[in-house]
Amino acid sequence: MAKLETGSKFKIILSNNIIDGISDGPIKSDAILVEDSKIVGLGNRDEIKPPIGADAEIYDFSDSTVMPGMVDAHTHHNGFGDGRLGDELVKLPDEMLVLNSARNARKSLFSGVTTIRENGPKNKTMLELRKSILRGDQIGPRMMLCGRPISIIGGHMSYFGSQVTGEVQSRAMVRQLVKEGSDYIKITATGGSTITSDPLRPAFNLNELKAITEEAHKFNKLTAAHCTSTAGIKLSVEANVDMIIHSVFKDPNGENRFDNKIAELMVDKGVYINPTLHVFRSQIWAMQKNMIDKPENKQDILALDKAKKEFDIRVEDLNKLIDLGAKVITGSDSSWGDYQLGNTVYEVECLELAGLSRSKSLKSVTKESAVSIGVDESVGTLAKGKDADILVLGKNPYDHLDNLWKVRDVFLRGSIVDRGSTDSLSRIRQIPPRN
Ligand SMILES: [Zn+2]
Repeated sequence: MAKLETGSKFKIILSNNIIDGISDGPIKSDAILVEDSKIVGLGNRDEIKPPIGADAEIYDFSDSTVMPGMVDAHTHHNGFGDGRLGDELVKLPDEMLVLNSARNARKSLFSGVTTIRENGPKNKTMLELRKSILRGDQIGPRMMLCGRPISIIGGHMSYFGSQVTGEVQSRAMVRQLVKEGSDYIKITATGGSTITSDPLRPAFNLNELKAITEEAHKFNKLTAAHCTSTAGIKLSVEANVDMIIHSVFKDPNGENRFDNKIAELMVDKGVYINPTLHVFRSQIWAMQKNMIDKPENKQDILALDKAKKEFDIRVEDLNKLIDLGAKVITGSDSSWGDYQLGNTVYEVECLELAGLSRSKSLKSVTKESAVSIGVDESVGTLAKGKDADILVLGKNPYDHLDNLWKVRDVFLRGSIVDRGSTDSLSRIRQIPPRN
């Protein structure tokens, strides 16, 4: 055998319960061989050995579950998850937003999320944070960045710094974002919570959306569109957007009406759907927590009731999409609204509530989310040649999704993440209201 190249470090990770993200349940292999940042072998622990002449560190997680690090396809690292609007958040100086983003990046990673796709930061805050992480000055998950979302004038998230009009400016903005190092293009195809926008109306015209997707695809960049109304979904699907975010079926008057034809078109075109259910549920949780120590108030009760009914409709609509065969992935939308980073598991839980099987729910936050954001060549599954982004859990998530909270260790690119005190995750987790 040829003499070993110097410098390689080997690790052997042992577990009697390895979930590779590909099979529907634990696989037969019980050992993973890692060389530096990569998985170089999977198999039986009697056979898995480093090359002759090399040592390997042994990590014995025999009694634990080992699975791919989670991939969260939708984050907002600038946010606090304390209920404040984006319009308020954006008033903070970039320096403060970068610091908060760095804190959020640690929270994601400590919770077992080893890859994120960022959906809406201000200016270059996340592009700069990623540089700092890649230099090794900060720790955080692997990041796929949009730079900034592209919006119309006054449109949703226009305050983040990229508003355009017409095809020429739309194309120019894609080129600008690509130049700055963006990995994909986020579009706000309808209004949203942004005060000057209307969530029930389309933002861009079809020709503008087409200009954005064509230009992005030319550079081999994926696209994703925020859509909180049916008209916005329709235009985005016609413009060949790769992922529909929120996917809310609402008429311009605010009425909920699921559109089977558009849903079928989404399925036929293979568009990914990022439902973001928990960001809505977390609003309900916040309302409930607010009501606990307050005297009963009719208005609060009515608002809560309305929000619960809305949530049920979102769940029903997603269930219909799942029945049609839609490709549904986990993207938490944290820290937006009341939903804080580090709590991705709650979105997985909501997708299961809407009808995904346990296996599909787990894949929605590993393999499928990795495919949907174009990083499946390196992450999302445990297989030879992949990056060693590995989550070690004290209990099996196939028994209960809640076991995704039982984090024992997180490996990022083959190295164990220093998560500080072991109770750090209990401080990150948002606890639901008791009633
Ligand atoms: Zn979002």
